[in-house]
Amino acid sequence: MQRTFIMVKPDGVERQLIAPVLAKFQQKGFTLVGAKLMQLSKEHAEAHYAEHKERPFFPDLIEFITSGPVFAMAWEGDGVIDEARKLIGKTDPKEAAPGTIRGDFAIEKSKNIVHGSDSIESAERELALFFEQSELV
Ligand code: ATP
Repeated sequence: MQRTFIMVKPDGVERQLIAPVLAKFQQKGFTLVGAKLMQLSKEHAEAHYAEHKERPFFPDLIEFITSGPVFAMAWEGDGVIDEARKLIGKTDPKEAAPGTIRGDFAIEKSKNIVHGSDSIESAERELALFFEQSELV
């Protein structure tokens, strides 16, 4: 069965949005197979966002994602990678449809509440970066 990596970012944790985000994926019918609250190191954050390292917003992105705890999750289900991206909504919350997490809970692109893997390869890479095999059920 397919698995994906989802993370509530520091803005979402601070605004007490872990529960609504969890509910969204549970209500859709996906299964939570791993979860933990963690403080990312600079090195861990840079590894996670390596594909963006040449982008002008990279330093701000690293500062933001290490500014407070994140809630890392592994979700399982049929087509969960693409379906999770639909539930999350477009990167810019102003363009995200109502009913999506970003559409309902965020305004700024740099504080868009949640991250979700965008492909099978990213999901595998990110799950391995955040979870030991023994932490997944
Ligand atoms: P994520 O990878 O967090 O799920 P995404 O796949 O929708 O988001 P990406 O293009 O991979 O979007 O960008 C990664 C993250 O970098 C975005 O979620 C956002 O927080 C931040 N970001 C992207 N573009 C910008 C920008 N132009 N200015 C500021 N932050 C940005």
